[in-house]
Amino acid sequence: MTFQNTLEFAQQLDAKDKLFKYRKEFHYPKVNGKEVIYFTGNSLGLQPKRTQAYVDEVMKDWRELAVEGHFYADKPWWDYHERLASGLAKVVGASPKEVTVMNTLTVNLHLLMVSFYQPTAKRFKILCEEKAFPSDQYMLQSQLRFHGLDPKDALVEVKKRDGEHSWRTEDILDKINEVGEELALVLMGGVNYYNGQVLDMEAITKAGKSVGAFVGWDLAHAAGNVKLNLHDWDVDFAAWCSYKYMNSGPGNASGSFVHERHLGKTDIPRFEGWWGNKKETRFLMEPEFDPIATADAWQLSNPPILSLAPYLASLELFDEVGMDALLEKQKTITAYLEFVLHEIDKQVESSFEIITPKERGCQLSVFLHGEGRSLFDYLMKNGVITDWREPNVIRLAPAPFYCSYADMYNFGQILKQGILKK
Ligand SMILES: *Cc1c(COP(=O)(O)O)cnc(C)c1O
Repeated sequence: MTFQNTLEFAQQLDAKDKLFKYRKEFHYPKVNGKEVIYFTGNSLGLQPKRTQAYVDEVMKDWRELAVEGHFYADKPWWDYHERLASGLAKVVGASPKEVTVMNTLTVNLHLLMVSFYQPTAKRFKILCEEKAFPSDQYMLQSQLRFHGLDPKDALVEVKKRDGEHSWRTEDILDKINEVGEELALVLMGGVNYYNGQVLDMEAITKAGKSVGAFVGWDLAHAAGNVKLNLHDWDVDFAAWCSYKYMNSGPGNASGSFVHERHLGKTDIPRFEGWWGNKKETRFLMEPEFDPIATADAWQLSNPPILSLAPYLASLELFDEVGMDALLEKQKTITAYLEFVLHEIDKQVESSFEIITPKERGCQLSVFLHGEGRSLFDYLMKNGVITDWREPNVIRLAPAPFYCSYADMYNFGQILKQGILKK
């Protein structure tokens, strides 16, 4: 498709967009009385309008049924989380028994590492990308120290080449093979939070497994944003937060995945709690843990229903639209944003540079030359919500659910004014 940087053209794309009607399903913040152009769905997704009803339903059941709500609410609480499994499975390419919701992302990665990071004298190294998301770095370092290891020896970080903005798959695969028999775990971000790069999860998983390591993925920026096939890729485990592309509210519950081949085992190392026990025997309050034969075995506590309600509302939207339609729009709208950026860049004489590679989801990271921070402030004051990452990067994520092509055109005009104003 040949794009044009005009409002008319953008509106034509909107008119043809099957997802355009979903804009009405979301609440938008306002700046100067106008709905914003929202580029930070990679940080906190917008609130779906239907979420309120899901939360109200739980409040009503609690008010009117109290403890009886566990079994007699329309959506009983004791197995409420199971309602999320089929929707989640479709988003990450798994079977429903391989996914569950519990806790929050960093907590889940820690818990999953209990099962999938079992260092021995010979095989003890963890491989990740350099400058991983800080929480991931803290998690990996603290896990290593917990096992009596020094992160300096045991944490292998794959670097980008000098002067390059993204990782090369060959460099990651080479490093995996180099560490070889010492490698216990590969744990990386499937989509990098900073440059928006989508790693070749399939190839990396295969390479990790071929040297005998476990392979897990942090999918914070991947779930609901890119194509995932966790089961077929043979990934051991994964976890993601639900408040970014999954639109389920600030700090909300995390999803996790454990491959079928690890399910139903009693001898797997795992931190356990009563909600991971088989439902049939859970309330017999017996001393022996009898794990559910699904990823629910990793659940510790009875889940926070008030958190699961917005997640369920959001998954219903994903189910309605389907990942294929979402990904199709994601590709086109991101390409259109890239085109608009290049057009504006020509008009303002190279004030910025896109550092996101072609392997991407819907995020474009833009490195601003010159006075970045003041341009960022200008955008925010003029109703364009982006985010800022040191030293000079704004991240733009046109989430396909609620961003329009006209938003991309209008953003380009505001950006141009902001740059020329200086
Ligand atoms: C957003 C994000 C997190 C956040 O972790 P929480 O435990 O949900 O606070 C972790 N890792 C990555 C890669 C992220 O992008």
